[in-house]
Amino acid sequence: MKTQNIIEELSLPRSVLNPVAPIGVGTPEVESMVSYFCRLAMSHCISADELGRAVARAMQWSIPERWSWHAISLCGMSDTAQDWARALSQLTSVDNLDSLTLLPWRNVIAEQSARTKLAQWCPHCLADDRAAGATPYFRLSWDVGTVSACSKHRSRLAHVCPDCRRSNTRHKSVFVVPGWCASCGGFLGAGDSEPATPAEVWIADQLGAMLAVRYDLVSRPSLDAMLDGISELVQRLEDGKSARFARRIGLPKTTVHYWLTERGTPRLSALLRIASKSGLRLPMLLTGDLTDWSPAYADTHDLNSLFPDLKERVPRKVHDWDAIRAQLAALSDSPAVVSVREAARNLNVDVRLLYMHANEEARALAVRWNEHRQFLSEESRKKTSELIGRVYPEIAAKGKAVNLREVLAHVPKEDLDGVRDVFSVLQEMKKTEQSQLA
Ligand SMILES: [Zn+2]
Ligand SMILES: [Zn+2]
Repeated sequence: MKTQNIIEELSLPRSVLNPVAPIGVGTPEVESMVSYFCRLAMSHCISADELGRAVARAMQWSIPERWSWHAISLCGMSDTAQDWARALSQLTSVDNLDSLTLLPWRNVIAEQSARTKLAQWCPHCLADDRAAGATPYFRLSWDVGTVSACSKHRSRLAHVCPDCRRSNTRHKSVFVVPGWCASCGGFLGAGDSEPATPAEVWIADQLGAMLAVRYDLVSRPSLDAMLDGISELVQRLEDGKSARFARRIGLPKTTVHYWLTERGTPRLSALLRIASKSGLRLPMLLTGDLTDWSPAYADTHDLNSLFPDLKERVPRKVHDWDAIRAQLAALSDSPAVVSVREAARNLNVDVRLLYMHANEEARALAVRWNEHRQFLSEESRKKTSELIGRVYPEIAAKGKAVNLREVLAHVPKEDLDGVRDVFSVLQEMKKTEQSQLA
């Protein structure tokens, strides 16, 4: 019944869907599922939307009426990508179409991190295809997040049509011929491209090496094997110190902890950091295969050039606590009295750290500071009450009430320097006077 439906839909006499052969499987230039889907639709002379609906009908999936094929993420690692790869394999009788997606790595790479927002392509690859009389097609590597270059042509990927200057026109249409702009029909291989930086080429090369490995369901990289491999790298590069390993790859130690103890899945950029700072190639890292690796290959790439957009974590300051304690002790004996806060500022240390690592010295400083403030405050009040005492009779002689306004009006401005709490001192004095009168 299923088959009958789709035969009707596609008017196909013999097979359900044409067994279109995917291009470049087992090489860094493996075709993407998006490209395959477009070519499959073309082979049936139907639109990509019609192909999608036919597949959905054959698989008895319900899809919304207003549905478009380019809204589905065909190349990624999601369950959706898996469903479509399986369905297409089933309907075309072409096995392992999941090798046109990132599904083989879904256990070892955090899904979100491998997504790309741009529909990119290498104009030189498309031009080469055409010049060789071959079918231009989209490479899977162009749809991997963090990839911005073609390692073969050492140039940046393009995302703007050379003719109409529109972006996102690579395949956003119902009729797509891979290699030609979906908006204007111009050949996408006609444009030029900027040269890529060595770091961009390195990333594209690592991903290409990853995509060139073929896995079946059983041999797919497993998270445990990869994390064990990372543990071994930590062991051999940093004597098992994961905090030092985190510093080496420029990530917080909590991130490394999250992988190693909570068995969390690393992001693609983090895995590239590890590859770049250990010298272990990405495909080996993903399978935890350290057989041909030695720490001698470490430190191959500068992280800042690899990930210029990502802020490097400021390395944690290393404090010499013996020296800091000695300085605090010296401050306690110096004639100038400083607060713990000020001392922390001068020593460029967080005040909480001072209390944590130099508690005794910090507290001695705090006690001295509080005593000093107490002394200053008493001095100031003494001065204030002297001042009030001086003007009190003057004000009273004029028959006026002795209040704050009158006191301030009778004290020369220069005498108000260092005078504080006039109001409260005044209140106190009045209270004492009244109690004496009573
Ligand atoms: Zn290229
Ligand atoms: Zn165009």
